[in-house]
Amino acid sequence: MAFTQKNKFKPFDRKVWLASPTMHGDELKWMTDAYNKNWMSTVGENIDEVERAVAAKIGCGYAVGLATGTSALHLAVRLAGIKRGDGVFCSDMTFSATVNPVVYEGGEPIFIDTERDTWNMDPVALEKAFELYPDVKHIVFANLYGTPAKMNEVCEIAKKHGATVIEDAAESFGATYDGRQTGTFGDIGIISFNGNKIITGSAGGMLLTDDIKQANKTRKWSTQSREAAAWYQHEEIGYNYRMSNVIAGVVRGQLPYLEEHIAKKRAIYERYRKGFEGLPVNMNPYDGAHSVPNFWLSCIIIDETAMCKQVRGDGDSCYIKEKGKSCPTEILETLASFNAEGRPIWKPMHMQPVFRMNGFVTRDGNGRAQTNAYIAGGCADVGADIFARGLCLPSDIKMTADEQDKVIEIVRACFE
Ligand SMILES: *Cc1c(COP(=O)(O)O)cnc(C)c1O
Repeated sequence: MAFTQKNKFKPFDRKVWLASPTMHGDELKWMTDAYNKNWMSTVGENIDEVERAVAAKIGCGYAVGLATGTSALHLAVRLAGIKRGDGVFCSDMTFSATVNPVVYEGGEPIFIDTERDTWNMDPVALEKAFELYPDVKHIVFANLYGTPAKMNEVCEIAKKHGATVIEDAAESFGATYDGRQTGTFGDIGIISFNGNKIITGSAGGMLLTDDIKQANKTRKWSTQSREAAAWYQHEEIGYNYRMSNVIAGVVRGQLPYLEEHIAKKRAIYERYRKGFEGLPVNMNPYDGAHSVPNFWLSCIIIDETAMCKQVRGDGDSCYIKEKGKSCPTEILETLASFNAEGRPIWKPMHMQPVFRMNGFVTRDGNGRAQTNAYIAGGCADVGADIFARGLCLPSDIKMTADEQDKVIEIVRACFE
């Protein structure tokens, strides 16, 4: 390790996490309630209550409790009518769960490059994509790290081309754009209660819609598509995707703390921002004129001029230490050596071996063609560039101010 200031600090006694579950006590109460009433099933009061409360919070007609955010996306893809051979414009820099369900149904993701203002789907590249692929009728976009995408632009373009929109708000529950909750901007939205999200059920997700027909379809498909008959009667293919009433109990206990979690995440983001003043880095950006993120993960991007040489393969990476410079690999290795968990930026989908044959569109057009014109030291697209220079920092709600200050010092020392 090139990090020479190591002796200034001792590793954290208690691991500082990227984002771990933060429980408050009521979770156990509602899980126990499910147990005592023997609703140890995918039916029960906890499910009814969290569906009601989330729909009210988000301001959508219906929120349907499901096993995971991914299963919610899968049913959203089916509701949108995406079928074998359909091209689908998808966020490129996101978690793979955003796009996998498109493939489950035989759709073909075409990845849209990222913009620099919010690190989400670039509306300019999206418009370009409709020129290149005029037959495409579907869009799936995510709000990365809890930061709302450019909703006005993305929704406007979708409308102009008559495309359906699925909004993956898995990471952005509680974030708003022009005062409206994320998850309500697409024709269908989803949120996730995975263990690392802003609030958690340990697992779980929800499909959000204003359309009662879609809500009813989702309930039916998620419980094996049983028809109303005395026996098991099936006219459609179904899934076992319904949320458990025990999981719903955890969510029910967490929901009252959503705003508190967001306030703590925001404080973490602000503390990093101040702590890094004078360093050649910037925080993950958002459009303060329109949006209030939920600040789920705090990230930094290193100035181009302050990047030491870093090379990444498919499974490993290395770098050459330079005075006054650093790179994500060095910072992540150093944090890990002090028992703190960071993470690389979600590696863009167009860079993933599994999606190497899929289309990719940047502002300039066909991104695959540009990759061949890649200039050493630079990046052909925004996603690859943010992946090369960015990283996610420990953003756990239970991290103390002292612990965070030490994280800041460790990052600072990497630039010495
Ligand atoms: C977590 C996540 C999902 C999937 O949610 P699960 O509940 O883990 O299935 C989907 N999209 C994004 C962007 C996520 O971060």
